[in-house]
Amino acid sequence: MRGKKQNESRTLMSLLVVGTVAFDAIETPFGKTDRIIGGAATYASLAASYFTKKINLVSVVGDDFPPYAIRQLHDHGINTEGLQIKTGQKSFFWSGRYHADMNSRDTLDTQLNVLADFNPEIPDSYQDCEFLMLGNLMPRIQMQVMDRLEERPKLVVMDTMNFWMETAWDDLMKAIARVDVLTINDAEARQLANEYSLVKAAQKILKMGPRYLVIKKGEHGALLFHNEQVFFAPALPLEDVFDPTGAGDTFAGGFIGYLARTKDISFDNMKRGIIYGSAMASFCVEKFGTERMLNLKQEEVDDRVQEFIDLVQFDITLVD
Ligand code: AMP
Repeated sequence: MRGKKQNESRTLMSLLVVGTVAFDAIETPFGKTDRIIGGAATYASLAASYFTKKINLVSVVGDDFPPYAIRQLHDHGINTEGLQIKTGQKSFFWSGRYHADMNSRDTLDTQLNVLADFNPEIPDSYQDCEFLMLGNLMPRIQMQVMDRLEERPKLVVMDTMNFWMETAWDDLMKAIARVDVLTINDAEARQLANEYSLVKAAQKILKMGPRYLVIKKGEHGALLFHNEQVFFAPALPLEDVFDPTGAGDTFAGGFIGYLARTKDISFDNMKRGIIYGSAMASFCVEKFGTERMLNLKQEEVDDRVQEFIDLVQFDITLVD
């Protein structure tokens, strides 16, 4: 970030989301999809849109990306001025197959396509960025976005995945060192820290730079680490999980969306953010792709959060 602009004071107020906007092909024990709309930034910005209305998207697609999918983002109040559409090029493509437990998956194919030489542009109207969600994509681009903001946002949350640990380790380390909150899944935390114990892994990762670490454990909930403190949120026990794709991004979008809405980045409020993120992720997995995230009602979100409260609330008196 270039430092404060001289003689100009901006009111920081928006949420900027960067990440992939993509086509996905998914196989689960319940079925198979061909090319459906996906991408880390798609899921994260849709989830956040249920909490805050000033969302700016930075990403890139090819001209194979359907206009209706961009309209769906607009319908959720997501500004796509920073979404580049590259003529004659193909959008990012990912395909994955879930195992029977739905908690683990294999990546079958990752085609960077238009992402390979993506040069993120930050429109002037995005410079009022108060909350920055660095969704999953090349760490080099995540850093470029931070560099191209004139003021450092109040909170920078970053998500990443094993693919970047395997292909861009040095950049990933540099990016992680600059963020406030890192969100990754349990297998990735183990890989990043080279530690099986998640507690030891968390201690190591917190030394890499972020002050907060969220470890997502799929159907086993999520852990938030900060200094010596740990908070745990369960995942809602669901009867049917159709497609976990995007659950992690949806979680991150719900988390940062809630923080942006409440403008409180204390540890206690992050705990609430984790519950909201978990609630949003629980919707995401109920249908294939983004389908469930497109038409949620406020009442459904409220009820789901209440289910979380009921799930973990108990009275207890310590025995003498
Ligand atoms: P999640 O299930 O939360 O890990 O996110 C899955 C989404 O991430 C899919 O919609 C993919 O398009 C996208 N994705 C998969 N691999 C990558 C990658 N290496 N970088 C960025 N986005 C990815």
